[in-house]
Amino acid sequence: VLSNRLKTIASFVPKGKKIADIGSDHALLPSYLVYNHIVPFAIAGEVNDGPLQAAKRQVQLYQLEDQISVRKGNGLEVIHPKEVDVITIAGMGGALIGQILEDGKEKLSSIERLILQPNVGEELVRKWLDKNQWFIVNETILEENEKIYEIIIAEPKNNQRQNPYQGLDITKEELYRLGPILWQKRSPILLKKWQRELQKVDYVIKQLERAMNENEKTKKIEELMVERNWILGV
Ligand code: SAM
Repeated sequence: VLSNRLKTIASFVPKGKKIADIGSDHALLPSYLVYNHIVPFAIAGEVNDGPLQAAKRQVQLYQLEDQISVRKGNGLEVIHPKEVDVITIAGMGGALIGQILEDGKEKLSSIERLILQPNVGEELVRKWLDKNQWFIVNETILEENEKIYEIIIAEPKNNQRQNPYQGLDITKEELYRLGPILWQKRSPILLKKWQRELQKVDYVIKQLERAMNENEKTKKIEELMVERNWILGV
């Protein structure tokens, strides 16, 4: 059974497109998409041997070898030029997702859609997209097993699409953190996420007040207070 998180990611894959799932682990997402006839072909990319073997076993178990190509490699290097239409990268940090996109830039020219699910550091993903001519066309946020996940869908910038950062009442830097579309939707889960962030900041401030010497303490606490006030302000 696929997690709600992966099912939601799958729901953003357009029917009939070819996909590459980078950092596929057990290849659950490509298996689901192919098994349910949502896509005709998928690449499951993995850099580590353990997950790579797990992906191969999964694909064999469901007899999907003809349609799912499990490949070992770093990031987008497993994709041949123009081989797929959509790339999914899920379940890793935003810094790593940004790095994978940056290192594989030349593979992106034929890509119609990116579906990205950073576990942390969402702002780094949004910033990379914005700097590299990708428009965010949709975003969603969900909670599963006490964890909150954001999914960012981006397509190449063009004149027909609306700039996601235009016409909003707060700065771009803030929207990198909050998500321009999540912000517009004002989802209760988004509110919950930032309430949790506030609790984390408060907790760290309390710990620091006990632990550190005066000089170090004041500087760190000042930084955290800036963060605290920002969260409270939005
Ligand atoms: N995408 C799956 C999901 O969302 O459930 C699996 C997420 S798992 C936490 C992250 C996977 O990314 C690991 O299996 C890891 O080996 C793989 N990975 C990390 N860096 C990678 C890279 N540069 N290229 C390909 N795979 C990578």
